[in-house]
Amino acid sequence: MAITVWDYTAEYAAERADILAAVDEVFSSGRLVLGPSATRFESAFAARHGAVHCVGLDNGTNAVKLGLEALGVGRGDEVITVSNTAAATVLAIDAVGATPVFVDVHADTCLMDTGAVEAAVTPRTRCLLPVHLYGQCVEMAPLERIARRHGLAVLEDCAQAHGARHRGRTAGGMGDAAAFSFYPTKVLGAYGDGGAALTSRDDIAHTLRRLRHYGMEEDRNHVVRTPGHNSRLDEVQAEILYRKLGRLDSYIAARRAVAGRYAQGLGGTGLTLPTVAEGNEHVYYLYVVRHPERDRILAELRSRGIELNISYPWPVHTAAGFRHLGYGPGSLPVTERLAGEIFSLPMYPSLAAGTQQRVIDALREVLADVG
Ligand SMILES: *Cc1c(COP(=O)(O)O)cnc(C)c1O
Repeated sequence: MAITVWDYTAEYAAERADILAAVDEVFSSGRLVLGPSATRFESAFAARHGAVHCVGLDNGTNAVKLGLEALGVGRGDEVITVSNTAAATVLAIDAVGATPVFVDVHADTCLMDTGAVEAAVTPRTRCLLPVHLYGQCVEMAPLERIARRHGLAVLEDCAQAHGARHRGRTAGGMGDAAAFSFYPTKVLGAYGDGGAALTSRDDIAHTLRRLRHYGMEEDRNHVVRTPGHNSRLDEVQAEILYRKLGRLDSYIAARRAVAGRYAQGLGGTGLTLPTVAEGNEHVYYLYVVRHPERDRILAELRSRGIELNISYPWPVHTAAGFRHLGYGPGSLPVTERLAGEIFSLPMYPSLAAGTQQRVIDALREVLADVG
């Protein structure tokens, strides 16, 4: 069997009784959508991330989209973000009719270069959208200063940063609102799709609840406003997530242990290992390394039964759908250089030490050849 960057089957084997009990509890309850499991999960998830409200949603893409809508971002507005992110971040900006404006990233952390943000602000800028990529947070203080000075909203994309801490605060509790994904690979993953938005503002929470439920007040279905969507988190995923949330700290600890073993096993090999920015507690959604001979290394590993991923091989600004924005080759030089050098090593809480050692040994062998 090939070694891959992510596999949940060992975790399921260990947690099977609890997961099946969650499914049975919901199926037996008579409530499959907007019931007690969603409410319970929302309270616990908000508390865990230092926010007042959590609104359970159907996926992370829609969490970004509804977050923007609830913040009043729409047609004609500009949203400043990065191109080194999941396409979903940028597709959500596009989906509300707004224009993404990209700034470059730092070469060491691959995170938004906050020093480049103020120069990108125009009279149409409405929102800053930092992406807490790979499991650690963007430096928030400069963004908060810029947002105050120009009257902008801040929406955190936390799809890769459940539980990540930044200078005493938690990802998702820092902006006006935050978007989370519970796609199965994420640090807190469902058994299917799921998402959520966090906010500490009552008005935004109220709007999010309306947006996810056909534009209606949940208890007053005769009052319909536009826009309206169907973007609810279902009860089965909510109950599974509620139970898994109690284990989030142990998942994060296991990910950190995996990261520690890579750092030990791969030091001095010529690979550039991940850097943790000052003030950050990394949760290692991905373990992203860099090497100029990336493609040769991946081919050699593939021939040894190790299938690695690249997050992300094509920066979003180079995608066909966003070419009209006018970011030609060389417009985001660090992002473009990273895209040719980065790759992700296997990273998940139940990764067996022996499997990880096989990856380390294979990498050391390949790197000794590549030089
Ligand atoms: C996964 C991800 C999303 C999208 O979440 P889905 O649940 O897959 O829709 C958005 N932003 C980032 C940074 C992600 O990693």
